[in-house]
Amino acid sequence: MLDTFKHKGLRNKMVDELRALGISDEQVLTAINNVPRHWFLDNAFLEYAYQNKAFPIGSGQTISHPFTVAYQTQLLEIKKGEKVLEVGTGCGYQTSVLVQMGAKVFSIERQQALFVKTKQFMTDANIRAKLFYGDGYQGIPVFQPYDKVIVTAGAPYIPDALIAQMVEGGRLVIPVGDGDKQIMTVIDKLKGGVLKKYELDEFSFVPLLVDKNWKN
Ligand code: SAH
Repeated sequence: MLDTFKHKGLRNKMVDELRALGISDEQVLTAINNVPRHWFLDNAFLEYAYQNKAFPIGSGQTISHPFTVAYQTQLLEIKKGEKVLEVGTGCGYQTSVLVQMGAKVFSIERQQALFVKTKQFMTDANIRAKLFYGDGYQGIPVFQPYDKVIVTAGAPYIPDALIAQMVEGGRLVIPVGDGDKQIMTVIDKLKGGVLKKYELDEFSFVPLLVDKNWKN
């Protein structure tokens, strides 16, 4: 997997654009600068890898916009060594940015073909995250509790399991809404399990699918 000067130059430019769009956490910007986004795209989209766009990654899914990844990552306020639960692995780009920030990432994906492809890719690229195949609405109970939780698909509601699997002092970042648009929502779990909710900007994600027949 190549990462040429040209790729690095394009990535620097992308990071400058993210800064101009209001991303101010230098740790987030550095992490994004260190992850070769073009590795996550099919060859057909290589030259677009550093444009602020979403692209197909197979199984009808998309890699998130760099701005969306930066925005959600900034909200997570990751500290090195924190345990992060990610719902919606997709191609693993957001996962890799979190790993790059020093997080221990546990990520779950419900599309089996995508899960298999991304797991192989992450092994080949030597990016260390624990990937799971399953329904994100359930979280990943065996490895709870998590310091931070991120959902990378539009959720019609906030799944209880994700709140339950978070530590006190933890934070969930989730786009909420079941139409074309979702409101980026932050839930802080305070002492005693008290929840504090903030609603931020509007985004457009692929849906977090509810699968009534999912067997756990
Ligand atoms: N984080 C990804 C974005 C992927 S798009 C990236 O960086 O590119 C959202 C992903 O959520 C898709 O791969 C989709 O298959 C997955 N998804 C949708 N519903 C889900 C569910 N109930 N559980 C787990 N993953 C789900």
